[in-house]
Amino acid sequence: MEEVKEFIIGRGAEGMVVIPEGKKSVSHNHAKITINPDGTWILEDLKSANGTFIRNNNGDFRRVSRLQITPDTTIRLGTGDTFGFTFMAHHVIADSPESYEYEFRQLSKAMELQLEAEHEKEKVIERNGWIAKCSGLLLVLPCMLLGGGIDPTTRYILIAVAPVLVGFIFKNDMPRLKAIRKRREKVIVCPKCDRPLSEFDVTHKQCSRCKAH
Ligand SMILES: [Zn+2]
Repeated sequence: MEEVKEFIIGRGAEGMVVIPEGKKSVSHNHAKITINPDGTWILEDLKSANGTFIRNNNGDFRRVSRLQITPDTTIRLGTGDTFGFTFMAHHVIADSPESYEYEFRQLSKAMELQLEAEHEKEKVIERNGWIAKCSGLLLVLPCMLLGGGIDPTTRYILIAVAPVLVGFIFKNDMPRLKAIRKRREKVIVCPKCDRPLSEFDVTHKQCSRCKAH
């Protein structure tokens, strides 16, 4: 039977997760990851001074004290500035402290889903744009054709109101697309230096800034 594996992470801890110099908000023994024989992963904050956080699907972090996680969970120790430290849980069992193979593999998958979501939204926006234009025209056309039948003021109001009406029916998806794109900057980041990665970086499985791979 396999045994329980425990990993302490912090500035004074040993192991694959090496905290670089200057990460002042990380405690000596900051957090613990336990891998149980049944394959479940547990993250526990060891009463650290600045807290342990996990990243959700939107890219935002929330503070946790004890939680079941997965190897893909992104964990932040300490503050959300340069004094904090972010890593993927799986790194505790990496081949070496400088091996980010697993992380880049996960990032490739995440990037694929991200681009899919962006393209999907772009298509909807384009389609709705066309529907809006066409139906706007459909509303304007009778006004034009009827010409003298309607007094100019009513015609003017109808023409002015048509795009607003149509815009209301086909609610603009731009803010949603922007939110999806913004998420990319938070989620598709280098597993070592935490800076946003380009599509090129992810495809080539290497960060062009810190050269982590
Ligand atoms: Zn990097």
